[in-house]
Amino acid sequence: MELQPRTFRELESTTLGDIGIAARLIERFEVMGIRSVLDLLRLYPRRLHDRSNITPLTDIEVGVEATVFGSVEKCEVKSGRNNKKRVEVILRNGDARLRVTFFNQVWRQKELAPDTEVAMFGKVDSFGGRLQMVNPIVDVLGKAGEGKTGRIIAVYPQSAKAGLSSWDIAPAVAKALEWVGEFYEPLDEALRSPLKLSKIDRTKAFNDIHGVPSIEDHRQAERRLRFDEFLVAQIGLVARKRALQASDAGITHQTGGPLVEEFLSSLPFEMTDDQLTAMSEINQDLATAAPMHRLLQGDVGSGKTVVALAAMLTAVEGGHQGAMMAPTEVLAEQLYAVASRTIGVLRVPSPDGVLLSEQEVGVRLLTNRTKASERAAIADGLRNGTIHIVIGTHALLYGESPFTNLGVIVIDEHHRFGVEQRDVLKQRAGEGRVPDVLVMTATPIPRTAALLIYGDLDISTLKVMPSGREPITTELLKRETIAVGAAYQRVRDEVKNGHQAYVVCPLVEDSGKIEAAAATKRAEELGNSEFKGLRVGLLHGQMPSADKEKIMNSFRSNEIDVLVATTVIEVGVDVPNATVMVIEDAQRFGLAQLHQLRGRVGRGGGASWCYLIADVTTKDAAARMDAMVETTDGFVLADRDLEIRGTGQIFGERQSGQSIDKHLRLARLPRDIKYVEFARTTAESILDSDPDLSNHRPLAEEVEDLLGDDVEYLFKS
Ligand code: ADP
Ligand code: MG
Repeated sequence: MELQPRTFRELESTTLGDIGIAARLIERFEVMGIRSVLDLLRLYPRRLHDRSNITPLTDIEVGVEATVFGSVEKCEVKSGRNNKKRVEVILRNGDARLRVTFFNQVWRQKELAPDTEVAMFGKVDSFGGRLQMVNPIVDVLGKAGEGKTGRIIAVYPQSAKAGLSSWDIAPAVAKALEWVGEFYEPLDEALRSPLKLSKIDRTKAFNDIHGVPSIEDHRQAERRLRFDEFLVAQIGLVARKRALQASDAGITHQTGGPLVEEFLSSLPFEMTDDQLTAMSEINQDLATAAPMHRLLQGDVGSGKTVVALAAMLTAVEGGHQGAMMAPTEVLAEQLYAVASRTIGVLRVPSPDGVLLSEQEVGVRLLTNRTKASERAAIADGLRNGTIHIVIGTHALLYGESPFTNLGVIVIDEHHRFGVEQRDVLKQRAGEGRVPDVLVMTATPIPRTAALLIYGDLDISTLKVMPSGREPITTELLKRETIAVGAAYQRVRDEVKNGHQAYVVCPLVEDSGKIEAAAATKRAEELGNSEFKGLRVGLLHGQMPSADKEKIMNSFRSNEIDVLVATTVIEVGVDVPNATVMVIEDAQRFGLAQLHQLRGRVGRGGGASWCYLIADVTTKDAAARMDAMVETTDGFVLADRDLEIRGTGQIFGERQSGQSIDKHLRLARLPRDIKYVEFARTTAESILDSDPDLSNHRPLAEEVEDLLGDDVEYLFKS
């Protein structure tokens, strides 16, 4: 009888006990979160040592970097001057010995017990006439004498906590590989050929990545499995996108009507080309029965709001309602102010049926502070057709839904909301049709990351900025030096010229209270020193909403010169007269956040400045500050951010993103851009020929296991 190739789902449901791994090891694997055969096989070697590159202890030379190999003969903690402790190890291989010293790493004593086999990499020097290594990189392999021979040593991720060494892991993996025999192969050779992987099927890939016949074989195997990681994610995303496109549950809006025309021609500026393109992309979505599922991304100040307002007006024009949700009250109020000023003055036919009678477009604000009576009035107005658009915060999601006929939903700064929250709003539409959804973000992400995170969304991008944007000069000033005075001097000068400024206080992780206290104190300090005589205001997240609004209004009407604030001002706040942004302890902020903060100035009030007052002690912080000084282009910064931080943070934006990130063991962005693109086209061609994956059942299972319930309906089982 011929054995069936093993599928991932089968490997996932097979425990380590099922394949005869010893109980004492099973417990330890469990500590590392490894329960199934698939978990074990996806624990990949972390590093490889080629024995032919290992320098015999007899051949090492002063000043040269070398990898050495041996077992620990002796390991002692010694006290030096000032009672500083060091760990001294004698490494032995055959008859040769080398002294290795670790400073400030007392914990090494536990790790490097006698008889432990290790590989070490470092620079050789001499001390007291004898050769030694100081603070080398260490790979603990296991108990001496237990390792297999062979040219390449694969080092598995250490887990001191689990008490598992490389010498424990390698034989367990070998056992698993033997048990599996042949792996299910989802891709035929032709599909594998673009990456020159046609000869590398999964069976070979898993065997080579662990067994390492040669470094080159291992690398190829790694490339194949990395591609598979991207592929599974892309299949889920492409399938989801196609399912949405094929649906006819949405609303067919009439686009290009006179109301939108009138709105656009009432604006005091011409739309940019990118705005026009985005609007036409949105209109195409609106005009079809497939529900729109589009992301509008554009840097701060690129003009997303008017595009969103036009989309909502299109809904209104066809007799539907519009809703816009923002993550903070400050922002919702600002959007509401813009909307009432621009669209609240346009006229639409009255709902009372009187021929040719007209009324103004009804726009209302709904937040947690909206009184019950006003809430009821909004619901009435939506019901009887006198209110058309509601702008609000999370408050839109709670209580009885006021909407009766929601046509277009806009979610600003959508990454501030959870996926479920966005879905809740969608379900409150009334009437039974699925509304069109436009999500917006001012935190652009690199295109390839977008393919992975938003692979199921359509994307419109505003790249060109509206004209009239003022240049922003960014300077880095070292904290607690005399140089920071320049920032405060600039604030005073600009205020003298009639402008305004922000000072952003240090970020206090996870504690709004402490942060608020610090901001309060800082506002007082500055008011009594650097900004004596200026009108200093304070804004932080712990203030009652009414106070926040009062402060923002005073700032908007230039009754406050300097606004000392926490990051509550980060998103969207639009006060064109502000021309200086001072960010204290800038090293604590992420790049996206810094860019957002800087975007509060340069909004039309004249030349602007951003001062980063920072104490730069880490490499990452230095990279962030350099990037900020070098460019104001949000897309360039997004790329940098990805390089500095890796994918974790951006993937966290979406729930499905988080599971994708966990699933990507070998993949790394932006390095693997090419793989993402190939995975995309491969996913498309698989789904072209087999839309419900009925001929690729095990692959469908992989996608379902990755993305969970929300894709299960896509494939036939
Ligand atoms: P964001 O994309 O950050 O939400 P906004 O929509 O708030 O940007 O736009 C920022 C400012 O630019 C607003 O004051 C808006 O009126 C203005 N604006 C938008 N589009 C244009 C344009 N095409 N030309 C000039 N100014 C514009
Ligand atoms: Mg905005």
